[in-house]
Amino acid sequence: MRVNLLDFDAERLAAWFAGRGEKAFRARQVLRWMHRFGEDDFGKMTDVAKSLRAALAAEAEVRGPVPISDTVAADGTRKWLLDVGGGNAVETVFIPEANRGTLCMSTQVGCALECAFCSTGRQGFNRNLSTSEIVGQLWHANRMLGAVRQPGVGNSGERVVSNVVLMGMGEPLVNFDSTVAALKLMLDDNAYGLSRRRVTVSTSGIVPAMDRLRETVPVALAVSLHAPDDNLRDRLVPINRKYPLQDLMAACRRYLENAPRDFITFEYVLLDGVNDSDAHARALLALVRDIPSKFNLIPFNAFPNSGFRRSTPGRVRRFQEILMAAEVVATVRKTRGDDIDAACGQLAGQVRDKSRRGVSPRLTFSPKRSLEVI
Ligand code: SAH
Ligand code: SF4
Repeated sequence: MRVNLLDFDAERLAAWFAGRGEKAFRARQVLRWMHRFGEDDFGKMTDVAKSLRAALAAEAEVRGPVPISDTVAADGTRKWLLDVGGGNAVETVFIPEANRGTLCMSTQVGCALECAFCSTGRQGFNRNLSTSEIVGQLWHANRMLGAVRQPGVGNSGERVVSNVVLMGMGEPLVNFDSTVAALKLMLDDNAYGLSRRRVTVSTSGIVPAMDRLRETVPVALAVSLHAPDDNLRDRLVPINRKYPLQDLMAACRRYLENAPRDFITFEYVLLDGVNDSDAHARALLALVRDIPSKFNLIPFNAFPNSGFRRSTPGRVRRFQEILMAAEVVATVRKTRGDDIDAACGQLAGQVRDKSRRGVSPRLTFSPKRSLEVI
């Protein structure tokens, strides 16, 4: 089987080239061709020696995920369903805005963490995505958006994808190594050259992995909080039983020592009558008292048999006001791409449904949260 070079970050690509007696700058050239210019044909990498091109074509490949569908919403939000083989598919959503373009990417097929209000969690875990499958989402989006630059044209001009959020399917910090390699490529000037302030990992709070992320590739961090006390969070975000709030808050403080932004973003899905009272808002303020933070209040997006309801607009406003009155920035996320169900994780691809073991794989459409813009 050929080696897929999209699986390698810069360091591993250089090592792979070195193992073949090739110089490091050759690896850099190929890295640029693949990621900056979106080239998947070694034959077209014109400044690479012909003999090397032939050797690469024999041994290696540049294989991104294969698109199954491409849908554009009325507001310009665009969603791709990408085949990742073995009957699995993941989704990637592009959200264009006046001053930025955000790509919402997945890191796993399904998720094992079973948060009560999340349809990806309900569907169970199938498998981790590889580095090529994660970074391949960005690779594919750039190609489709016409953002790949021509060699020699230079670096000026806006990148179409200026921001990345790992808020699609899966828990990025459970799939740590592949996610980190993909993050490194996103930041690498020879690949996507994104600013670390514009790349956000969203986590449900895998404490040891938050520390490792801080040490290896400290990008912007969003923490899915959803409850101000352990009792409630144990129910909503079961991983809290392993990493309770006190540990999570300590990990947030440590993260801030290396973070590219001087605050942590806390995500908070507002669930009617569950976590949306004035008392919950005040308890939240006490919880994050010594952590510079911003809140993203997310209106819950219902799915069949979720057992939860979205908080009323009045409740959302009131919750926001309580936080703002204490000078904590709190935004309510806008919903985008409604008409194409463009929620991160909404079209969950093909996952093994735990309740239907033995049933052959099928495409699972799960109406879930609408796509949110941070
Ligand atoms: N696993 C990571 C990242 C993917 S989920 C995490 O949990 O942070 C991205 C965000 O969507 C999380 O904040 C998650 O709590 C939220 N989310 C999950 N289900 C939702 C729903 N039904 N409605 C609104 N937001 C939801
Ligand atoms: Fe997994 Fe995040 Fe969904 Fe929880 S909210 S089940 S961690 S994808």
